Amino acid sequence: MRVLLVEDDRMIGEAVDQALKEATYAVDWVRDGQTALNTLETQDYGLVLLDLGLPKKDGLEVLQSMRLRKNNVPVIIITARDALEERVRGLDAGADDYLLKPFEMAEVLARMRAVVRRKGGIAGPTLTNGVLSLDPVTREVSFNGEPKQLSAREYSLLHALMVRPGAILSRAELEDRIYGWNEEVESNVVEFLIHALRKKLSAEAIKNVRGVGWMVSREK
Ligand code: CA
Repeated sequence: MRVLLVEDDRMIGEAVDQALKEATYAVDWVRDGQTALNTLETQDYGLVLLDLGLPKKDGLEVLQSMRLRKNNVPVIIITARDALEERVRGLDAGADDYLLKPFEMAEVLARMRAVVRRKGGIAGPTLTNGVLSLDPVTREVSFNGEPKQLSAREYSLLHALMVRPGAILSRAELEDRIYGWNEEVESNVVEFLIHALRKKLSAEAIKNVRGVGWMVSREK
């Protein structure tokens, strides 16, 4: 999943950026509100972590503009402002959750999973589709009840497909979800990962729609 981190504090930004990458998220980090808005115009994200006190444009303004433009990406506000009024304004402006600094990364990651689950209308933490199951908390993947060892990128790609079973994702969309800006996309990486996943799971686990992209079929 690709995450936009909007944070002007260098130390906090670096810590969150690194922790998210370690948790296998693709992360783009911007340091002011205007750049955040520009970025959201051209790039799709699974989630936004948004600081409120930002240069150029306040986080609350960013959030209001996003929602006005019908951008419904889940947003978690991360801020040092602990006044009740600020929290209420943030939630009223369309934030999905709120974290006060200083925070523990374990909590940030747990809140992110919860928000993504709620937005996706998924009740439990585990994604299941037929005999395939994926647990976003433990990162365990199993096929036919058998645990499978996946690399970080294999996991990210499978997660992107399993969050939206039945949806066809193009190569560019998949690359988007598994790489951040400053990471160089290796050529044919999507084909390579799909090949590896099919080998580890089953040849039918991921379907190719010729000329369009790949999907995990929706199964009970
Ligand atoms: Ca700030």
